Amino acid sequence: MMTIMSSQFQPVLDRIMAEIDRTPGRGRSADYIPALAARDPRRFGMAVAELDGAVYGVGEWRQPFSTQSITKVFTLALDLAREGDELWEHVGREPSGNPFNSLVQLEYENGIPRNPFINAGALVVTDRLHTRTGDAAGELLSFLRAESGNPDLGFDEEVAASETAHGDRNAALAHFMASYGNIDNEVPVLLDQYFRQCSIAASCADLALATGFLARHGIRADGSRLLSRSQAKQVNAVMLTCGTYDAAGDFAYRVGLPGKSGVGGGIIAVVPGRCTLCVWSPGLDERGNSVAGVAALDRFTTLTGLSVF
Ligand code: GLU
Repeated sequence: MMTIMSSQFQPVLDRIMAEIDRTPGRGRSADYIPALAARDPRRFGMAVAELDGAVYGVGEWRQPFSTQSITKVFTLALDLAREGDELWEHVGREPSGNPFNSLVQLEYENGIPRNPFINAGALVVTDRLHTRTGDAAGELLSFLRAESGNPDLGFDEEVAASETAHGDRNAALAHFMASYGNIDNEVPVLLDQYFRQCSIAASCADLALATGFLARHGIRADGSRLLSRSQAKQVNAVMLTCGTYDAAGDFAYRVGLPGKSGVGGGIIAVVPGRCTLCVWSPGLDERGNSVAGVAALDRFTTLTGLSVF
């Protein structure tokens, strides 16, 4: 079996960056959120964080970008830590096979979304976290600041406003689920929380570090426990099966790690017991995953032999 020493991470990242630089065709940045449309699809950064917080990076790995759906992993963990299995009565954990913002399945399954990572499911999780904390987005931001060690992380008000102005689809999802009694808060309050959550700007280094608790089986950066070992396994499993839109099968095939992507072009990934990764490049494929991001993670697991399989 291939083994990799920590000192090998930097050369591996340098090699991946050189390969990515030579790759033509980088996809297109998301344009349904106008504030994201102007991002150059050729930008690229990647970071690896070890369990003790040592972090390696290449390219624009310290450049903040729009985290978007990556935040759904953290709100899931924060809510699961508070309410435990009751959450699963309100949101499922099966791949949806539909686009991330699809409405159709909700009607057949009584307003219970398929999983926490499609928009409908994430709205339910944020709603429940907001009920429990009174400030879901603030709770999330504090967690990300603590885990990344970066007190400067914040909301991007321009991106949040842009989504609010173009948020009809998310509003429809929230109202539809509310009609089944699966949303507690007033819909405008929930949408404000959700758009602020998605607007958080963070870098590859920040997010690789913030994801560390999932590689440490539930243990936070300060040594305290957020999730039980079993819950950390559950979150990783849902990432593997549902974390990359309706391309989770292909992502598992190519990369072989639990991962979560966002339409800002970022992807986080977890090697349980070993390290966490974050890659960013704004050009997306037709399913919403970063083209260079998936390619880079694919190369990482191939070059290092680190995967869950
Ligand atoms: N805020 C985005 C939306 O709700 C998140 C989409 C994503 O990154 O998947 O449409």
